[in-house]
Amino acid sequence: MSIPIYTYDAIIVGAGLAGCAAARELQNVGKKVAVITKLHPLRSHSGAAQGGVNAAFSDEDSVELHEFDTVKGSDYLADQDAVEFLCKNAPETIRWAERMGAAFSRTPDGKIAQRPFGGQSSPRACFAKDRTGLTLLQTIYEQALRTGVKFWDEWYVADLIYKDAKASGVIAFNIRDMKVAIFNAKSVMFATGGYARCFKINSNAHANTGDGLSIVARHGLPLEDMEFVQFHPSGLSGNGVLISEAARGEGGRLINSDGDRFMTKYAPNAMELASRDVVSRAILNEIREGRGVGPRKDAVFIDLTHLGRDLIMQRLPELRDLAITFLGLDMIKEPILISATAHYSMGGIPVNIAGNVRKNNNEFIEGFYAAGECSCVSVHGANRLGANSVLEALLFGRYVGKTMVEEIDDIELRVACEDDAKTALAELDWILSNNGDEIIANLREELQQCMTANAGAFRTKETLDIAVAKVKELRTRYQDVRIKDKSKIFNTELQEAIEFGHMLDYSAFIVESAVARNESRGAHFREDFNTRDDENFLKHTMAYMDKNGEISLNYMDVILGKHELKARTY
Ligand SMILES: Cc1cc2nc3c(=O)[nH]c(=O)nc-3n(C[C@H](O)[C@H](O)[C@H](O)COP(=O)(O)OP(=O)(O)OC[C@H]3O[C@@H](n4cnc5c(N)ncnc54)[C@H](O)[C@@H]3O)c2cc1C
Repeated sequence: MSIPIYTYDAIIVGAGLAGCAAARELQNVGKKVAVITKLHPLRSHSGAAQGGVNAAFSDEDSVELHEFDTVKGSDYLADQDAVEFLCKNAPETIRWAERMGAAFSRTPDGKIAQRPFGGQSSPRACFAKDRTGLTLLQTIYEQALRTGVKFWDEWYVADLIYKDAKASGVIAFNIRDMKVAIFNAKSVMFATGGYARCFKINSNAHANTGDGLSIVARHGLPLEDMEFVQFHPSGLSGNGVLISEAARGEGGRLINSDGDRFMTKYAPNAMELASRDVVSRAILNEIREGRGVGPRKDAVFIDLTHLGRDLIMQRLPELRDLAITFLGLDMIKEPILISATAHYSMGGIPVNIAGNVRKNNNEFIEGFYAAGECSCVSVHGANRLGANSVLEALLFGRYVGKTMVEEIDDIELRVACEDDAKTALAELDWILSNNGDEIIANLREELQQCMTANAGAFRTKETLDIAVAKVKELRTRYQDVRIKDKSKIFNTELQEAIEFGHMLDYSAFIVESAVARNESRGAHFREDFNTRDDENFLKHTMAYMDKNGEISLNYMDVILGKHELKARTY
């Protein structure tokens, strides 16, 4: 069988904000770019972003305050040079998005409106109603198409071509008919998004299965700070579907079964707008101590009724619809039920500010870049502030595209051969022909239940050990998997089996990195070590997986700067 080889200057995996922004930069200067995406671009999770995108440009605000809030929000684990870069370039990024055609909501005097978000000193989140991500994604995708970027929609990237510290393409198959192709290029960028689908209760799209991270890790390359998973305070009770922080930004109040606005106890100054880790733990604590509401007493109320119909319809129409659809509750008339939901991945593929992927603490990989949620640059450290990640995806997507333009002429194309596809083909054949007793849906359910129960917003060594053991057990049982659908036409069962393999791999990174971090920092809260320990843990985790799936841990220095370490209160 001969496998087609397509050659481009650059290949980008992922068509969310990061991928589309980078692709546009490259194609705009005449480089030939292919974006490969397992979803139609507009179905990328970026399109689900509701609340906003940060930039300090109002008179009361400053870039320095944005930096300070971000570093404090990160519990001092963010690299301050990267944070400076993010905050300094944020206003220009918003203006660029606007020039590209994004219609932001305005103030009565015509300026871009900004709403308050958690952990921010000033209203800073620019928004388009509560459809910010979709507005931006439509705009940037359209502009990428306009410059001539070639989109390979519904193609699944199964492997990276990586040899001798150089990346030179990917192996992908067409989801429609399973035909495999080799994509060969001077440079490759991963913009594959987040990975919260390994938790039972999560806010993420079904596609957020962390493929990019596991593909990279299987080549023996590191993943950074994987223990830091953000649990968002407001997922709809029972299913975790997101009610954006915009609901609290616009004035939503959190209430327990005693009718108390309980954030007075946990964050007397910032109240509902403390950072997400703080608010999530407060909610879960209220529930644990018996002050939950709802049929299962596993939620708290968010009350928006005092905002009135006009404001809700003008600013939060999508959120209202979500609560009506999933819970039958209309936020105009009554409080709705929420609890914490796994939401965002602070960790990921380690990169420097320019977007070059790290081979280890000191070396980089030629022709390999990453941006957006799959990467760790690290601007979010141990906890991301709301409205900083759409910013990250847009801004770093665009700037990493610029880096690729600068570096591409110095990279020699390493010509691909059929042998490069051998691992991906073997994986496909194995899943199609394996005849064990295990069913993917059952294994996935067990993984998700275990991760939510044992590696969630509260963790201990004991619970994490359970999770480590479970992931190992599931890994063994995965070898016995069998899929029923042996066809090659839209075989979603096959795709889910591959995705589940990815979920298992990166989940091992999450739990093994978490069990070794004997402190509480940002989103990683260890009940057995409930304070931050700067002396021993002010460092990034760099984890590696060997051929047998064993994880080993190393650490990398945090880049400190002008914002000095302080206790974090809100
Ligand atoms: C419900 C929700 C609301 C949010 N609201 C906000 C907000 O208001 N403000 C904010 O700042 N952040 C928000 N976030 C976070 C933010 O939206 C994301 O972090 C950001 O949009 C990620 O962009 P991305 O380009 O990195 O990835 P995504 O937009 O997730 O795109 C990933 C792309 O990778 C592709 N892909 C993945 N694996 C493969 C594969 N194996 N082969 C081929 N293609 C692949 C997918 O097809 C997709 O195109 C929200 C997140 C969620 C879940």
